[in-house]
This record gives sequence, C-alpha cells and structure tokens, in this order.
Amino acid sequence: MADPILLTPILLTPGPLTTSESVKRAMLRDWGSRDTGFIALTARVRSALLKIAGSGPESGYACVPIQGSGTFAVEATIDSLVPRSAGVLVLANGAYGERIAKIAQRLGRRVDIYRTEEHEPPSPGEIRKLLKADPALSHVIMVHCETTAGILNPLAEMADVVRAEGRALLVDAMSSFGAIPIDAVGLGLTAVIASSNKCLEGVPGMGFAIAKTDALKAATDNASSLSLDLADQWQYMEKSGQWRFTPPTHVLSALDQAITEFEEEGGVAGRGRRYAENCKVLLDGMTKLGFEPMLSHNLQAPIIVTFRTPADPNYEFEKFYDALRVRGYAIYPGKLTKADSFRIGCIGRIFPKDLQGAIQAVSEVIDEMGIRQRGGKAQ
Ligand SMILES: *Cc1c(COP(=O)(O)O)cnc(C)c1O
Repeated sequence: MADPILLTPILLTPGPLTTSESVKRAMLRDWGSRDTGFIALTARVRSALLKIAGSGPESGYACVPIQGSGTFAVEATIDSLVPRSAGVLVLANGAYGERIAKIAQRLGRRVDIYRTEEHEPPSPGEIRKLLKADPALSHVIMVHCETTAGILNPLAEMADVVRAEGRALLVDAMSSFGAIPIDAVGLGLTAVIASSNKCLEGVPGMGFAIAKTDALKAATDNASSLSLDLADQWQYMEKSGQWRFTPPTHVLSALDQAITEFEEEGGVAGRGRRYAENCKVLLDGMTKLGFEPMLSHNLQAPIIVTFRTPADPNYEFEKFYDALRVRGYAIYPGKLTKADSFRIGCIGRIFPKDLQGAIQAVSEVIDEMGIRQRGGKAQ
C-alpha cells in the first residue's frame, strides 16, 4: 500500500491545512489524560500560546483550551465572557462576522451588527459613534483576518477606540494567530480566540481563548452551556492541570510538535514572513495568468486570496477544482455573498515552491479547459 502521507494533496484552503510529517508522526502515541507527561504537555502548550499573544504568566491573562473546532471556542468565549444581559456590537464584513452575530443571538444576547462590504474594513470612527450613542453596548466582537475575502481588519485602531470608550473587545483571530502579531496585553483585549489547525499548523480538534483572568473570574456560572463553559474549564485546569472532559490527546501532541516547529521558524515573524512570500508568489503568478484578486493590495492579509470567477464561459468551479485536485492541489470555493469567486490559501506547511507548483497546475488547467478570459465578469 502506498504511504498515505505521499498521497496527501497540498491543501490551499483556510483549514484544515497541510501539516509537516513530524506533526503527523507526533500523533502516533496514545496518552492517558491523567498521565503526568500529558499534564505537562497541556501546560507547555498553554503557556506557549499565551506567549504568542504577547502575554506571560504574570500579565493577567490565561490560555483556556476547549475541545472542538474554532467555532466551538468562539461560542464558548461569547457564552462565558459576555454577561447574559449585555449588549453586543458585532463588526461583520464576511461569513465569520455573521456567524459570531448568529451565535450571540442564539445565546440570547442583545446584538447590534455593524456591517461593511466584504472588501471594506470597518471604520474606527463609526464604531466610536455607535459606542457613544449606546452605553449599554458593553462588548464589541470583531474578526481580525476575515477569511471570507481574506481582508485584514484594523485591530489596533479598533482596540484603541473600544478601550477609550471603556468597553470590552473580543477578537476572532482564528486565521491570523501565529502569523500576524497580536499583542493582547498591549491592546487590552478581553479575549483572543484561535484554533490548533490554522497558522499554528497543528491538526484540527482544539480551539482556545487567551482571556483576561479578571473576565474569567467574573464569568463563573454565566455560560448557559456546560461543555462550552470556559470559566469552568479554566478553573478546573488551574486546579488539576487536567481537562474537564476527554481531551483531544493526539491533537495536543501534534500541536506541541507544531509549536516547536513554529518556534524554530522564528515565531510570528518567521511564519508571517513565509506566508507573505507564499502570498506574493501566488498573487504575482495568478495576475500574470490574467486572474483578478478581489482585494486591493493594502487590504490583503497574507493568509488567503480571493480571485474573481473568470468571465470565460468555459470556466466552471467544479471542473477547475477537480483538474487541480488531480494534480495534487486542493483549492477552495469563494464565500462572498455578492461577487462570484474562488480562493487559494497561503497558510499551512507550504512553501513558495508549492505555490509555484500550484500556479503551474492552474496554467495547465486553464489551457485544458480553454479558459481565455481569466479576469472577472463586469460587476
Ligand atoms: C476558520 C475560522 C473560524 C472557525 O472555523 P471552524 O470551521 O469552526 O474551525 C472562525 N473564524 C475565522 C475567521 C476562521 O477563519
């Protein structure tokens, strides 16, 4: 039988992503959840994640991991850290912002949504006005890199406004954490939420929040969910070093190894540099072939690039996808509500040569499919 590792396609998606062979191999060991080695591993991962967010053990923040995908961590954080009677302002310019609003509504919080176009960042000045006009909006929730279009939202500017108005800011940094600097302490963020399987290059199965310990303390018995109660998970972990319910042991082993490789690469700076190179190779190659990126250069995060659907009648996403997949590359459909698009990711254990390979494959596929007009349709 062929080695499954060799059959793995290169994932040019927003997650799950391509992981290194050593990260995959780290999962070959079965840990018992009460094993002192596993307790040490959990502690090591938690403190490494805290450090990536610019925080240390004495800085008033804690890392609270939670079983599940990133969305579980988002839901756990909102349910736990936003008081039940609070008003929430959600900034939305894509599917993940909309998902946050939906979660907060489901949880029965009063939700106001500030929407901008998917290619348009939110305006700090507008947010200041909205907060001044409604003092009951005690919490603001935003997405750092909105993976829908690939836009980088202005975190530092927004944090300044929210802090100056005396409100709490929760940040979904799922697709930026580990590749774009986030100084949770310096910005005074109440919580930053991310997961094991994006820029940290681990495998899926664990989300986490880096949260103010004051907020975690105040959150006792606030969550309506038991399994997603971040405060309870935190208290139990602080007390026993263990997880409340079955931990995703293999995911933790993989993440521990992935963090070692992250540090070897030079942390956020090193990883961000490689992704920026990946993104440049991708943008240069695709524009040379005639494809049009959705975002202007100054808004584009080096995480995932959205291209307009080619105007050529011979283009069909499924065929395009399949032909690339046969060549060993998995791309992703677009998620924009207005413009037709497809996406190609720059993150995961992939290097500029992999993006060059993908561009070569795209160039073969467009010839094979007879796609001559590669620019987007007139809007
Ligand atoms: C990936 C992602 C999530 C979480 O998605 P899951 O499928 O639950 O892991 C949340 N927000 C953003 C911005 C993301 O990119």
